Amino acid sequence: NDTGVPSYAARLNPPQQEAVLTTEGPVLMLAGAGTGKTAALTARLAHLVATRRAYPSQILCVTFTNKAAREMRERVGQHLGPGSEGLRWLGTFHSICAKMLRQHAELVGLQSNYTIIDTDDQLRLLKQLIMDSDLDEKRWPARQLAGLIDRWKNRGLNPDDLDAVENESYANGRGQAMYQLYQDRLKALNACDFGDLMLHMLNILRKHTDVLEDYQRRFRYILVDEYQDTNAVQYLWLRLLAQAHKNICVVGDDDQSIYSWRGAEVANILRFEKDFPGAHVVRLEQNYRSTPHILGAASGLIRANSDRHEKTLWTEANGGDKVKVIGVWDAPEEARRVGEEIERLEGEGANLDQIAILVRAQYQTREFEDRFIQIGVNYRIIGGFRFYERAEIRDALAYLRVIAQPQDDLAFERIYNQPKRGLGAKTLEKMHQHARRTGLPLAAASLELADSDELPKRAANTIGGLMRQFLSWREAAENMTPSDLLRLVLDETGYNDMLANDRSAESAGRAENLSELARAMEEYDTLGDFLEHVSLVMDNDRGEEKETVTIMTIHAAKGLEFDNVFCVGWEEGVFPSQRAIDEGGLASLEEERRLAYVAITRAKRRCTILHAANRRIYGQWTSSIPSRFIEELPEEHIEQETTMTGGKSLWQANWSENDDPFAHVARDRPDRAQARGPGWQRAVATGYETKQQRLREPGRSAASFAAKPRSDIAIG
Ligand code: ATP
Ligand code: MG
Repeated sequence: NDTGVPSYAARLNPPQQEAVLTTEGPVLMLAGAGTGKTAALTARLAHLVATRRAYPSQILCVTFTNKAAREMRERVGQHLGPGSEGLRWLGTFHSICAKMLRQHAELVGLQSNYTIIDTDDQLRLLKQLIMDSDLDEKRWPARQLAGLIDRWKNRGLNPDDLDAVENESYANGRGQAMYQLYQDRLKALNACDFGDLMLHMLNILRKHTDVLEDYQRRFRYILVDEYQDTNAVQYLWLRLLAQAHKNICVVGDDDQSIYSWRGAEVANILRFEKDFPGAHVVRLEQNYRSTPHILGAASGLIRANSDRHEKTLWTEANGGDKVKVIGVWDAPEEARRVGEEIERLEGEGANLDQIAILVRAQYQTREFEDRFIQIGVNYRIIGGFRFYERAEIRDALAYLRVIAQPQDDLAFERIYNQPKRGLGAKTLEKMHQHARRTGLPLAAASLELADSDELPKRAANTIGGLMRQFLSWREAAENMTPSDLLRLVLDETGYNDMLANDRSAESAGRAENLSELARAMEEYDTLGDFLEHVSLVMDNDRGEEKETVTIMTIHAAKGLEFDNVFCVGWEEGVFPSQRAIDEGGLASLEEERRLAYVAITRAKRRCTILHAANRRIYGQWTSSIPSRFIEELPEEHIEQETTMTGGKSLWQANWSENDDPFAHVARDRPDRAQARGPGWQRAVATGYETKQQRLREPGRSAASFAAKPRSDIAIG
């Protein structure tokens, strides 16, 4: 065009242009949320191709998700047309490594048509190996070993690299041997797991100089988005590849580092200048995404973290609503309220695609799913199964279905050996044969079979026992609430024990999901009613072309933006999570706070934060306390609203001064209280004269409140 500015650079501000035009040498773009880092990185990619500094195939560009890679490819295509074709090395770390490994598989003992196994396969394989090694899987669960192996791989450690401490961390010093066994077995299967994609490629680059030099020559330019969340193996891999040309541009935000639990090391971004001396550092300060209030709230919050680089963020945008903080009575009301707000936004012409509900943990999605189905709002769940599709929920439902419907063969087949009862495929085959012969449902056929002498004695006894259990549950169902029945079943089948003995990271979440299921069932009088509700929910097919509200975890929302964002469940124990609170370390709470920062900064126009005064867990009312993160939001950027007790939140109205849940922290660990930021520093300095306390009425104590729920709400 006649201004001489290519279209991809037209709207960039001066520092963004600098990041685009400084093509040679290392570049670090360290800037806060919504400042156009990804936009600048995309323009840089276009610029490199447009000015023929490199062919598309000579650029390595790493994004955090496949979706981000697609968007970047599209955008560059819009600017350059066919000239942008051939961006072969644009993708996530894993997709890029998978592609490389196809070409060099033989160097690590694989064939190029190797398979990538998923977590389920991985666990099954590990279980076999554990059994073959005469280890007790109950004591040394496969999930635990899987977690360790992932961690080692994230750190770039091969079996030989493990030190004594790591080796001790599984089965009294058998960590290394089991890791080695697993790798050998994978090789024999011509397979690798997710972590191997990175680790194998790192090993290849380290051992085979010719391969390394080839890639080093090829990648004239390297671009990396979300660099703050790279882990050690990714970092080492990048550093090797960048050594020749040193044209590496990384962008990130230390305030958005939220994957340390997966081995990400924020230190990587902070030491970039040391690794690449002479790095050109670009700082972006203008935020183009959010309104001033959203930005102000997020910036105020993150300031409470101690371990960070202070950043200035400003926006030219003006106006906009304050961040709304809404206190509601309980979780169902939270979902109702969000539903109402969405309907209101829809009425104003908002696009549902531009609405997101951000949860801290997967189990929180259920309440929203149920509500949206009721009111007919299309939704999708990103980065996780929809609640009723998760394995443990399906297991539990399968038991309930067999209780309600003895002829439900599919359900019976799902759980006849779950938890493990030592019934194998052979037994199942016999049960099926007998069912076909007699025309009986599978469960009934099994009972007959157990009484015959066609089965080995042990299997026959086990099946007989299980069928007797089903009879007693069916009887119990007559005069028990559905949720109590579920608890009984989970107990008597040993399902709860199975989860309790499972030391993997996911088992706590699975147990949480099950208690959430029991909670959901409390609203139903009969098992039949509940199961009907579930089948309707599961059947709810959403046309993909329709506009849909997105429900996802904050982790999955990184890098994305929406006009309207609902941040839900901002309560102590939910967010920050109970685990982060229990660990008590500053580091885990600061990571939670970064998550909160990521959540708020996804919003372009409106951000609404909700907290419920009560959550019902296992039929018990628990009063919840608003998240400390709410207290940390600067007052001038928020507008508080509550649906309860004359304008004051339940928490404000019901907690007496003696109940300050954080008092002991402030007393015992002033350092921690300090780390809570301005609100808390003020509180410590003035003897806890916090905002909440100023508004609080002397009155009922937490305990008396918990014991006296509002009379119009039934307790399960
Ligand atoms: P995050 O930290 O969340 O990943 P980011 O720094 O990558 O954010 P982008 O997603 O690149 O930010 O940009 C945020 C929004 O601002 C986008 O909608 C983008 O199109 C817009 N934007 C970026 N740069 C400019 C600019 N110079 N002028 C106008 N809008 C811009
Ligand atoms: Mg980005």
